[in-house]
Amino acid sequence: MTPKNGSMVAGWNFDNSYARLPQSFFTLHEPTPVRSPKLVILNERLATSLGLNIEALQSEDGVAVLAGNRIPKGALPLAQAYAGHQFGHFTMLGDGRALLLGEQITPVGERVDIQLKGAGKTPYSRGGDGRAALGPMLREYIISEAMHGLGIPTTRSLAVVTTGESVFRETELPGAILTRVASSHLRVGTFEYVSNFCTPEELRSLADYALQRHFPDIGEVENRYLSLLREVIKRQAALIAKWQLVGFVHGVMNTDNMTISGEAIDYGPCAFMDTYDPATVFSSIDLQGRYAYGNQPHMAAWNLARFAEALLPILHDNPAEAVELAQEAVSDFAKQYHYYWLHGMRAKLGLFNEETEDLTLIKGLLNLMQKHRADYTNTFRALTFDETEDTALFRSQEFAQWREQWHNRLTRQSEPKSASHQFMRNNNPALIPRNHRVEEALEAAVNGDKSVMKKLLKALSNPFAHSPEQADYCTLPPKSSQPYRTYCGT
Ligand code: AMP
Ligand code: MG
Repeated sequence: MTPKNGSMVAGWNFDNSYARLPQSFFTLHEPTPVRSPKLVILNERLATSLGLNIEALQSEDGVAVLAGNRIPKGALPLAQAYAGHQFGHFTMLGDGRALLLGEQITPVGERVDIQLKGAGKTPYSRGGDGRAALGPMLREYIISEAMHGLGIPTTRSLAVVTTGESVFRETELPGAILTRVASSHLRVGTFEYVSNFCTPEELRSLADYALQRHFPDIGEVENRYLSLLREVIKRQAALIAKWQLVGFVHGVMNTDNMTISGEAIDYGPCAFMDTYDPATVFSSIDLQGRYAYGNQPHMAAWNLARFAEALLPILHDNPAEAVELAQEAVSDFAKQYHYYWLHGMRAKLGLFNEETEDLTLIKGLLNLMQKHRADYTNTFRALTFDETEDTALFRSQEFAQWREQWHNRLTRQSEPKSASHQFMRNNNPALIPRNHRVEEALEAAVNGDKSVMKKLLKALSNPFAHSPEQADYCTLPPKSSQPYRTYCGT
């Protein structure tokens, strides 16, 4: 660590390739300074992997950067323009409270976006205050890091700082800023914006940028933009399958919250399902269940159809042929999703080889889980250790029969039982960020005690460890007459 101008060098190493794209894609805009920034949490492992110096980030100058009070050398803050279909309706959006500082080039040469969320009003703020509250920013920190621990592609959280200022939602809350790290912030909504409001030439430049940034292996193929569409569909199919396999409900799968990189983004009203039920909805505003757990694959396909539509002007010179190519690619989503999901479900049941009847076996289990209101995560964990739980599911005769079928199925593969057990351990998490434990951690943290959150984060960092400390997080919430609800007013 070399002192420079009286301060330590944090290791910021920015480039700004997004700022070199057409000007209509963004607005250069500086963060609005905050009164008295204080570091609440820093993701030290992530910081190190980004080539950042922990001590320097924790210093006054370092925290000033994380609060938007100081722009590090090389950064070029901007708000990105995008549109999106929100609950089915097309709207112009854009970064209303987030600013891209630039792209950090990591020690291994990777390029990641560094974004400050809650950094003040932008030209896209509409009626919003451009700010964020501490609870929701810590919630995003916990859930995104939990997703990463679960092996799910996701944006990451580098830090949360409080601003020393209040934000007003239903009540007065402490203001905060999250530093979000992402492969990029290109969204389906970015393409919708450019396709609707910019020229085909500009659309081509956005598509070329996305290809270069996320799919550099697609070389000089016949139709690069069709390849882009196909690859995004594939990554999203893999992502949504992973959500379903752990019981994650995103809650607000609008097209502005779907990335081109295939990372999960925007942890607003999301939550993990306890009791297995495809109709599970947590978000208070999702009254129709549009984004219910069981509907997520369908909604992903709907969003990807919007992506395909946005690409139409550059898919083919002949509009009818462009539509045909788009439809063919989008209709492939269901097949791809099913492939990833089935593959993942086999792993959860310790199955190495494939039999056509596997789908019936899997569906049989899920139906019984739904009927007996079984806990999704704990059921798979019990199966992993071949334990019997004192629950309606495990007491039922139908489940005993199912279990026997499953045991028989396990014998029809060459791998020994021990290998199946290990396979299941690696695919069935010991814990998920259960809603009551996340709430408990947030409440303590907002009131100044970060220890509960830190302990939870540690347990979530390796959910496949199945360590004794993790057992504490497997207990279910106390029975409540009200279902768990999440709110968008973040
Ligand atoms: P989200 O629901 O987080 O995906 O946000 C949808 C849109 O609302 C995005 O354009 C955000 O930038 C914008 N937005 C959300 N909260 C605020 C806020 N407090 N101030 C300004 N814009 C906001
Ligand atoms: Mg969003």
